[in-house]
Amino acid sequence: MNDFLPFALPDIGDEEIDEVISTLKSGWVTTGPVTKKFESNFASYLGGGVEAISVNSATAGLHLALEALGIGPGDEVLTTVYTFTATAEVVRYLGAHPVFVDIDPKTLNIDVTKIEERVTKRTKAIIPVHFAGLPCNMDAIFSIAKKHNLKIVEDAAHALPARYNGQLIGTLASDVTVFSFYATKTMTTGEGGMIVTRDAMVAQRIKTMRLHGINRDAFDRYTSNKPSWFYEVVAPGFKYNLTDIASSIGIHQLTKLENFREKRAKMALLYDENLKKMPLTLPAKPNDNLAHAWHLYTVRLNNMDRDQFVVKMAEKGVGTSVHFIPLHLQPYWRDTYKLSSQMFPVASEVFSNVVSLPLYTRMSSSDQMRVVDAMSEILRKSCG
Ligand SMILES: *Cc1c(COP(=O)(O)O)cnc(C)c1O
Repeated sequence: MNDFLPFALPDIGDEEIDEVISTLKSGWVTTGPVTKKFESNFASYLGGGVEAISVNSATAGLHLALEALGIGPGDEVLTTVYTFTATAEVVRYLGAHPVFVDIDPKTLNIDVTKIEERVTKRTKAIIPVHFAGLPCNMDAIFSIAKKHNLKIVEDAAHALPARYNGQLIGTLASDVTVFSFYATKTMTTGEGGMIVTRDAMVAQRIKTMRLHGINRDAFDRYTSNKPSWFYEVVAPGFKYNLTDIASSIGIHQLTKLENFREKRAKMALLYDENLKKMPLTLPAKPNDNLAHAWHLYTVRLNNMDRDQFVVKMAEKGVGTSVHFIPLHLQPYWRDTYKLSSQMFPVASEVFSNVVSLPLYTRMSSSDQMRVVDAMSEILRKSCG
């Protein structure tokens, strides 16, 4: 048997490794000059006058974003039920409540026709998630947000880089957008994330709360005639800063991002062509206004049991994964908010037969054909 083909692998080159070594040797390993450079390069990459604020995870970033926008106890925040638990848990950190919305069966993104029926007087914000890297219908979301005076925080953990009407995700009219640099995402720093916003007040609050509630502006203003040990705590903040070790990886991953995306898009096409005759529903094709980040390539099995399929693929040496177990099926969310499958018929149905195939830049086209061949054998046998 061939070596096992993992579901995901990071693509880290000598540039990243050399930079990490030089940072380790520099004597400055926590947040410092490399992180500043990473933030500034990231903001320039996105363009559109955004500020970029690094954090040690996207989860931390989503938490800081909602905190800075004033979300608090008893507030409600709309989001998709078809996401990772991080999207919703940050709402609970603040004593607020996530209100889940079902998805569109084609895009697997939040169903924009079902958002408004869940708006109440307590609704303060919406967190759209660009599933797999395919942008949500943001025009509809902007118009609902405007009508009901809601803040928008995009969970763009899958959407770097993705485009909506030609504009990069992160530069749209949302209040805040958050990216993830977790090991399996489209670029990585091991662990890490980036918050982007054009709102200077929000940015200031995020920067203060990112590091123990120490107000840097106050600090900078008054330090000229204060000793270097002096600082002022203005709020009970968090410890969410990104290290220079992580940023050393990030500055080089960032320069490769466009190449990574092109490669992923080509890989998605190769899967499309080779899987189209199989009993599968392939991922939605982005229309001309959208560029897909292709973080995930997620198919639906039309006539085979998914759990069995995953086992058979592993037997053939191919790793697969399932995105996502919808949150209404997770014990905490189900029990706390009395959620049931009838409330989310589309997400429940999609979850029953969905599977994500390996798609990452270190895969060759022959690796991809291994996946295709394994699927072809398994699906042929299953239909008899
Ligand atoms: C990965 C992921 C996150 C969390 O990212 P971290 O950087 O690991 O905190 C949030 N939302 C979605 C949709 C994700 O896939």
